Amino acid sequence: MFNKILIANRGEIAVRIIRACRELGIHTVAVYSTADRESLHTYLADEAVCIGRPKATDSYLNIKRIISAAVITGATAIHPGFGFLSENPKFAKVCEESNIKLIGPSSHVIELMGNKAMARNTMIEAGIPVVPGTEGIITSAEEAVQKASEIGFPLIIKAANGGGGKGMRVAYNQEEVHSMFVLAQKEAKASFNDDGMYMEKYITEPKHVEFQILADSYGQVVHLGERDCSIQRRHQKIIEEAPSIALTKELRKEMGETAISVAKAIQYENAGTVEFLLGDDGTYYFMEMNTRIQVEHPITEMITGIDLIKEQIKIAAGRELVMNQEEITFRGHAIECRINAEDASKDFRPTPGTIHNLLLPSGNGIRIDGAIYNGYSIPPYYDSMLAKLIVHGKDREEALAKMKSALTEFMVEGMVSNIDFLGEILDNKEFIKGNYNTSFLEKMKEGC
Ligand code: ADP
Repeated sequence: MFNKILIANRGEIAVRIIRACRELGIHTVAVYSTADRESLHTYLADEAVCIGRPKATDSYLNIKRIISAAVITGATAIHPGFGFLSENPKFAKVCEESNIKLIGPSSHVIELMGNKAMARNTMIEAGIPVVPGTEGIITSAEEAVQKASEIGFPLIIKAANGGGGKGMRVAYNQEEVHSMFVLAQKEAKASFNDDGMYMEKYITEPKHVEFQILADSYGQVVHLGERDCSIQRRHQKIIEEAPSIALTKELRKEMGETAISVAKAIQYENAGTVEFLLGDDGTYYFMEMNTRIQVEHPITEMITGIDLIKEQIKIAAGRELVMNQEEITFRGHAIECRINAEDASKDFRPTPGTIHNLLLPSGNGIRIDGAIYNGYSIPPYYDSMLAKLIVHGKDREEALAKMKSALTEFMVEGMVSNIDFLGEILDNKEFIKGNYNTSFLEKMKEGC
């Protein structure tokens, strides 16, 4: 097992990893930017190294500085968390060349799955159902216009190296293709410094259902069930639940086996997520694979009792998976709400500020993964997530009741949060019935 792990991240996920390391008896090294001197991850780690100025490219995205921090402190492994360098093949390659174990798959696999257009082709070859679409990369609007009719309408134009819902536009007819392509490509270039695009059929009102998998370095792969992440705003997840009530036992088995085949097709190692779009007729398509831990991983932990971060570390250390598929059982229902510092009445504008009067809900089946405390000033440079509120109940009804109660108790002053907005979703009749898909929030806005 590793003696010391460096955590190349910040905020709640850095804190979550520090806690898992501590439980495993592993020393931790935090890296922090000058804006994060007072952040919880900086305080909680055994050691902390300042790696630069607030701008992510000067700190959390700066490969040289992170590797130097690992070398100086003698950390032999790096946990990248999510976001930042977690799906950066160059970073993975530098770790490999520096003899530092990156807690994740190989640089080759990250590269293969990081490019969604490439990942699609790999999956087609492996016989996995993918959304019908273009082959390879499209770089010009003219080419997009030409290829659009092959797919039909509506279609979605997506950044090949995209993430976080950015660089995506839907075209409903041939006339819209040119302008939507230009917009999506511009956003892709600005967000990912990459303007490679691809197009696929736009599935109308699907569910986003993803499977958590674990794969060790000996070729053993298991799945830990699914998460329904269909409550999204601008293609970004807000509320997730596990299991998905849209899946029958048979469909769960089939999709779980498909997720395992995806991992096996690329000799995947570590924790990963296979994302699918699910139509209301039970048809499902591979959308992408995330080669890292996900924000919403706690709901899977709550229903399986398996600590995913600890499993990631054990796999990276060369341990064999100790569970087989039959031993993984699911208990009850879990829901996660992302508590963000943003103002729903002002188009969800981020609202950084200093936290005071913080009162976190607690009690039976309530979990908070966060990095906030009274007096903490939220830096304006990073994402606006304050904490994740996770509940576990014996069934969906109990989990919903717990979430409603916990949201009512959650008190945070000093900035505007989305807590009331989350409460509105939880009160929505259709949501309560489980009657929702990725278009839910647009419809709720329209008053349906
Ligand atoms: P990102 O990596 O940016 O999160 P994804 O490929 O995971 O992008 O897609 C994010 C969301 O966008 C999905 O959960 C879904 O709501 C929507 N989406 C993506 N592709 C399609 C599609 N072909 N049809 C319908 N919705 C889609």
